[in-house]
Amino acid sequence: MKQYDYLIVGAGLFGATFAYEMTKRGKSCLVIEKRGHIAGNIYTKKQLDIQVHKYGAHIFHTSNKKVWDYVNQFAEFNHYVNSPVAVYKDELYNLPFNMNTFHQMWGVRTPMQAKRKIAEQIEALNITEPQNLEEQALSLVGTDVYEKLIKGYTEKQWGRDCKELPAFIIKRLPLRFIYDNNYFNDPYQGIPKGGYTQIVEKMLDGIDVIRGTSFQDFVGKFDGKALSLEGGLSGISEDGQYGWKRTLYTGMIDEYFNFQLGNLEYRSLRFETEEKPEEDNYQGNAVVNYTEREIPFTRIIEHKHFEFGKGEGTVITREYPAEWKPGEEPYYPINNGKNNTLYTAYENLAKNEQQVLFGGRLGQYKYFDMDKTIEEALNLVDQEVAREDGVTIYKK
Ligand code: FAD
Ligand code: UDP
Repeated sequence: MKQYDYLIVGAGLFGATFAYEMTKRGKSCLVIEKRGHIAGNIYTKKQLDIQVHKYGAHIFHTSNKKVWDYVNQFAEFNHYVNSPVAVYKDELYNLPFNMNTFHQMWGVRTPMQAKRKIAEQIEALNITEPQNLEEQALSLVGTDVYEKLIKGYTEKQWGRDCKELPAFIIKRLPLRFIYDNNYFNDPYQGIPKGGYTQIVEKMLDGIDVIRGTSFQDFVGKFDGKALSLEGGLSGISEDGQYGWKRTLYTGMIDEYFNFQLGNLEYRSLRFETEEKPEEDNYQGNAVVNYTEREIPFTRIIEHKHFEFGKGEGTVITREYPAEWKPGEEPYYPINNGKNNTLYTAYENLAKNEQQVLFGGRLGQYKYFDMDKTIEEALNLVDQEVAREDGVTIYKK
């Protein structure tokens, strides 16, 4: 039997960061991944000589210098700045919501005129403390922007009424009274030259990885107590070939517990990718959002513009949101009150699994961007190291 310090479930960014750091510290890791490839949702692959983001547009952005320096060890980043365009019927708007958007919406030119227009629109609504996404959006940008650019897009993206969604989702987007179409406020932003997969490849270099195998198929049913007497193992594979002391689980936390407390809800997506060898520039921008409800997809991305591609041909992807069902990929946790309460109950169950750690977008059921994913993985590494040293780390 091959014995490891850690079994890491999921070869996404969280699992790979943890595996890389623990290996550096002399621990042995075995990574298992249910998909046929590594890198999870940040997986990119070349098509028509263009790096295609196979699971939707991924733009790295962060305010955390430590994380930026960290990720730059694994790839060189270009100077891409995300500036999506929104199409509503036959109208076109710049995003995020800024003076360009307000000028296009109302013909206003100065910040004061824009603020006055928004104030007029929300006066009658009397929103003091926004309780949900709709109230949050209305109080920030008024009814016109809400109706044309937010309501339809959000309801198709999340499959729920804006009143049933948490306000924080819309607070992800900057709101500015200057002419600036940068989608993010973070000082560091870019796309890795050569794609994202290389980052995870480098992290997992020299580490044992088994692809195409889910944890549920891999793990053997056994009496943990008997095993722990020999070498401190807490898990063993079904075929008895692999054993490990501790587990990091980056899949769905409710699935780990066999959905015993009920299902957490997730939002899924269907990606429809089209190669267009005869066309060099399909939409003139990397990301174009379709904000009206009647169009079933939310956005079209044209991958070559992430890398300022000038070659022949182009590849586009339409993104169709869908409710998650077993067998599909759960891309987004739906962090409303009901799901957060259920997640807390699973978190309590997790506390009893003393040799199992949970991490990542699915393991922690949080809407993490890539920078936060790396930050959380590095924090978990610190906690593990401290645990071995007998030190307790108290988190703020
Ligand atoms: P994942 O990438 O989901 O990795 C988890 C891995 O575990 C997967 O490979 C999965 O197959 C595997 N797995 C799950 N269950 C099991 C199991 N039972 N057995 C074995 N393997 C299992 N972030 C940004 O910073 N900028 C962006 O522009 C951005 N855009 C995004 C767009 C979309 C459409 C989505 C969905 C996400 C976006 N993100 C973006 C977020 C980014 O994808 C995440 O931060 C990151 O991928 C999280 O890494 P992870 O390892 O937690 O999860
Ligand atoms: N959003 C919107 N209109 C847009 C773009 C975004 O209403 O044109 C809302 C929508 O609710 C979305 C949220 O803002 O879920 C966050 O947008 P972001 O681009 O960060 O979404 P992600 O990249 O995570 O899918």
